[in-house]
Amino acid sequence: MIEDDFLAVKNTHIPHSCVNCGDEEIEYRGLGEYRCSKCGTLMYDDFGKVRNYLEEHRGATQNEVSRETGVSTDVIRHLLREERIEITANSGVYMQCEICKAPIRSGRYCEACAKKVDSMKKEEIANSHSHKDKIQGYGKTTQGESGARRFVR
Ligand SMILES: [Zn+2]
Ligand SMILES: [Zn+2]
Repeated sequence: MIEDDFLAVKNTHIPHSCVNCGDEEIEYRGLGEYRCSKCGTLMYDDFGKVRNYLEEHRGATQNEVSRETGVSTDVIRHLLREERIEITANSGVYMQCEICKAPIRSGRYCEACAKKVDSMKKEEIANSHSHKDKIQGYGKTTQGESGARRFVR
């Protein structure tokens, strides 16, 4: 891990106390969102802020995201690498389909791949007694999840 990454990870502004009531019982709700157990105030770490912004401003550039969220471009670059958010050639930011890498707006797969995955799952359930190994032949899924792109919390 290069030093930039290390600093970025250490400084993603995870809330430790409620901005509203100061209570320290903060519950992590996933995707960078946190909730105060006492008053219910929602808070976000840097990933949450960037993610929220991108949901409402699809195709925003890295600089724009940084300016509007107050999250440094170092952190955004780190998130781009780790969280499957992508900046395209023209600097728009998109999520990527895990299978074919097509730009998508949300979720894990593009529409076409989602259908494939769906029918595969049905097939898998139907064949689960005799063909358990079949799903492993679907190499692209494994490939798509390999390496640094996979985010493990
Ligand atoms: Zn609170
Ligand atoms: Zn796809």
